[in-house]
Amino acid sequence: MAIPKIRSDGRHSALNVHVNDGRLLNYGSHVDGAWNPAAATGSLAVTNPADGSTLCEIATVGIDGTREAIDAAATALPAWAAQSPARRAALLEAWFRLIGENREDLARIMTLEQGKPIREARGEIDYAASFMQFYAEQARRLDVESVTSLFADADMRVTREPVGIVALVTPWNFPAAMFTRKAAAALAAGCTVVAHPSSHTPLSALALTELAARAGFPRGVINMLVGSAREIVGEMCSDTRVRALSFTGSTEIGRKLLEQCAATVKTMIMELGGHAPLVVFDDADFDRSVTQAVAAKFATSGQDCLAANRLFVQRSTYRRFVEAFAAGAAALKVDDGLNEAADIGPLMHEGAVQKCESHVADALARGARLVCGGKRLSPGSLFYEPTVLADVPADALIMSEETFGPVAAIAPFDTEEEVIARANDSEYGLVAYLFTADYPRISRLTRALQYGMVAVNRAKITGPTIPFGGTKQSGLGREGSRHGMEAFTELKYTCIHSG
Ligand code: NAP
Repeated sequence: MAIPKIRSDGRHSALNVHVNDGRLLNYGSHVDGAWNPAAATGSLAVTNPADGSTLCEIATVGIDGTREAIDAAATALPAWAAQSPARRAALLEAWFRLIGENREDLARIMTLEQGKPIREARGEIDYAASFMQFYAEQARRLDVESVTSLFADADMRVTREPVGIVALVTPWNFPAAMFTRKAAAALAAGCTVVAHPSSHTPLSALALTELAARAGFPRGVINMLVGSAREIVGEMCSDTRVRALSFTGSTEIGRKLLEQCAATVKTMIMELGGHAPLVVFDDADFDRSVTQAVAAKFATSGQDCLAANRLFVQRSTYRRFVEAFAAGAAALKVDDGLNEAADIGPLMHEGAVQKCESHVADALARGARLVCGGKRLSPGSLFYEPTVLADVPADALIMSEETFGPVAAIAPFDTEEEVIARANDSEYGLVAYLFTADYPRISRLTRALQYGMVAVNRAKITGPTIPFGGTKQSGLGREGSRHGMEAFTELKYTCIHSG
């Protein structure tokens, strides 16, 4: 049965999403506790990348709707900031439970709009929910410092206060977790939120917003705005009442937002692009390095800021590794993400496929060798074969630009010094992967690699307790852990004369 959706004008339109709870899909934007604000400007078609079909149309808002949302967040802020940590925690816990109860619907919505294999979508929903649980606990333990007074007749203390209204801007590759990683921390800290999801994947964030409303968050505390990013995010940047902007997306847009927020001097949290090196030494556990490298490269169909894009393998093991890695890549099942057996889904849009094609063509023109894959599954489709390029020269585009697709570039290296230099030769600094059994080498390399995160002998490293983020042009600040919540606070120093 197709679920009907109520548009801003009150009419129903067919929505080609089949879920158990149709109310998860019954919306436009969410402002001041209400769906479909009067300020709706038009509509946005959401498509299924697996077949290009239109899933639904969502009512959009622009500058006026954004102002309404900021007004609502400003009105809600004093009471929310004054709530006891226990009350904020209770609401986050209720949201966490509701996400768990609706896990299957949320995963299905995500696969339909984003394309990722349903098993990965379920994993992302669990990951998204884990931030609610973690920050519910963390709300109760925001650290404050005590200061030894400099004066005999004064007390000195340092407290943390919520920064105020925060703007959250999220990408399409993790449409649930990138929202909750920010929102849970901001809400726990006592901030109110105005958020913009990617126009490619608004349904997941909207479904989560519906569940937040059911959990009992007061009106105006969480506002979700679908529409033109230039208008919505532009307004968030220029409004002086918005005191922090937390952005996850490309480095290119991150730079623009840093400029746009300069005039209003906001706290900026930037989770930007990555171009992860993956280094395999000849003493590494060979089978483990191959399976983990396949996972690190091809998760989320390669559309992952943590994707291992540049594989450097020590020469003595290079030929064997390339063969085994390519066999692992070629064995991945490319299919509609709704198929339980799918490992690789469609890419998000035509531009994403074209970027893969251009990186492969450029690398081959510069002397790289195609080991497997290298083309779309069929003309016009968004499915791209898992692709392995070997002997990729340092000047190939793929060695300096994020591909954001299922294309792996491999090159041999000889010495530790050489591979450290090559791994660090990037404007990005999000994550680096290292495979070796030599502990002193692990110690040396983890210090030498200029990355915010280093994964040793494994691919999966994320979770709510870790400070996620990068160095250089991969971003500013960290998300997750206590640091992710402190980012949404201001330190206040108070000196009280005691007579
Ligand atoms: P993107 O194009 O930069 O878009 C990200 C967000 O910015 C979306 O909500 C988008 O809204 C909005 N946006 C786009 N143009 C804008 C503009 N001119 N002004 C204001 N906002 C604008 O990134 P993406 O393609 O969605 O995501 C892929 C990128 O995200 C990759 O570079 C990846 O590495 C990075 N990423 C980083 C992390 C991390 O934690 N470091 C995690 C995931 C992804 P619309 O969609 O509505 O245009």
